[in-house]
Amino acid sequence: MVPMALTRRSFIATSTAALAAGSLGRARLFAWQQPAAVTPVFKEISRNVGFWTARGGTIGWLINPAGAVAVDSQFPDTAALCLEQLLKTSGKTEIAALINTHHHGDHTGGNGVFRPKTKQIVGHANVPKYMKATWDSAMAQRAKLSPPPTTPAPAEPVVPDRTFTDTWSFEHGDERVSAKYYGPAHTGGDVVVRFEKANVAHMGDLMFNRLHPVIDRVNGASIANWTQVLQKVASELPADTIYVFGHAGQGRDVTGSRADLLYHASYLAALLDYVRTAVKAGKTREQVIASTDLIKGFEDYGPLIPRPLGPAYDELTAGKL
Ligand SMILES: [Zn+2]
Repeated sequence: MVPMALTRRSFIATSTAALAAGSLGRARLFAWQQPAAVTPVFKEISRNVGFWTARGGTIGWLINPAGAVAVDSQFPDTAALCLEQLLKTSGKTEIAALINTHHHGDHTGGNGVFRPKTKQIVGHANVPKYMKATWDSAMAQRAKLSPPPTTPAPAEPVVPDRTFTDTWSFEHGDERVSAKYYGPAHTGGDVVVRFEKANVAHMGDLMFNRLHPVIDRVNGASIANWTQVLQKVASELPADTIYVFGHAGQGRDVTGSRADLLYHASYLAALLDYVRTAVKAGKTREQVIASTDLIKGFEDYGPLIPRPLGPAYDELTAGKL
């Protein structure tokens, strides 16, 4: 029996010692040697709604007697595992709907795997546009390479076939599923997907839990507006809503509360303040993005990295500076 207080570190150490002593079987060795990121987790949150994680953005699901609904599709390899699990658990031959929270490849890369077994793929009207533009740009980059690359060209993206600009909803068994666009934030096409009766909201990459976020300025992001989007969602949805996050820092949960949304909103505002101060002090873009400071009050995001700093610098300097 594993003592309750055993930490993950000591669990690994103990397991390694046990393996060395030959007390665990080969199958067990294989299971725990798999990188944690590709070991799927399939977990119910509330009232037939849950999450599925492996690699890439967190997948949300609803499974009831009407069948299954999925939110986001990760990558082709993990999408195949998720699709199989959703179909098997629901006992149906098709997924009723796959909703993309936004266009990024770690949330839509599995769309092609879902496509033949999915009635409709839903997303914001900007999502197909951004997916195609991203693919066009990757293909243009390849065309410039000399000698030509020997690796296979990226597959043409499988985009949502049903799009909306503001809100979209449908009834699925005894649940109501809705999606809403709040304006530019992490990209220019992020939507919040709600399972209203379960009181669960999938935030996609509007939420990085204690993790410096990706900010996609090329495809419409706005840090200043992102802060407002999170505050608006927090004020609009019931106080006890459970939120699903696109990504979480190491050891952090992929679900949380209104407090987490407001905390991330404050972090984004603090990030802009931090960069604004640096720009006003005369720092160059190179100097700004090289910072490894902790943002005061948000130390649990870890030291700064270029990922959020570059877009913050560009957003601030694209204005009136
Ligand atoms: Zn993203």
